[in-house]
Amino acid sequence: TTFKALNLTPILLQNLQKLNYSTPTPIQESAIPLLLQGQDVAGHAETGSGKTAAFGLPLLQTIKPELQQVQALILVPTRELAVQVRQELKQYAKGITNLKISAFYGGHSFSQERASLAHPPQLLVATPGRLTDHLNRRTLDVSFVKKLVLDEADKLLEMGFEEEIDQIMEALPAKRQVILFSATMPQEVKDLIADSLKNPQFVKA
Ligand code: AMP
Repeated sequence: TTFKALNLTPILLQNLQKLNYSTPTPIQESAIPLLLQGQDVAGHAETGSGKTAAFGLPLLQTIKPELQQVQALILVPTRELAVQVRQELKQYAKGITNLKISAFYGGHSFSQERASLAHPPQLLVATPGRLTDHLNRRTLDVSFVKKLVLDEADKLLEMGFEEEIDQIMEALPAKRQVILFSATMPQEVKDLIADSLKNPQFVKA
């Protein structure tokens, strides 16, 4: 199939063409339609499967650039991944006016992050510890968040972020779409899916 057949907007299609992505990967083909419908999705997919675009393209298509509030939150286990995911999303988002994508993570200046929130990003990629710092210090408004991505969920749990994830989910509006990707599916990840996703649709790379 083609990206066009997945009902992506012209601006996203143009960016994908510029990146020479000719066809969607299997995980993109199965996840994108479900995500555009607003369903909760649990994806069993490793790095290299194209998972970032699988969740990123639907996020970019459904957030409102004219609303300057954090609308989608992407939790990742490491600062390296935070930087990388933001970079990749920025490539897909080229030409979308007024869209801001930020990455917050431990090791980054907290005061710079706080200052940047005078103009909140619509998409925020963050490590769980840094995000809970912002929640505890009341520097971040998450009341407009409609989408939550748990990227590399197995690693998030391995690194001991379960409490932070719980705290973050409690702070978010109840009506939200939750998207989870994991390279492996141990019982802990299955429990997280059962506890955090509504009517989860399972997709596999
Ligand atoms: P990920 O699994 O998200 O880490 O993506 C792996 C790499 O594949 C990234 O560097 C993307 O730029 C690239 N990629 C993602 N989707 C496609 C696609 N449909 N066609 C070609 N390359 C892709």
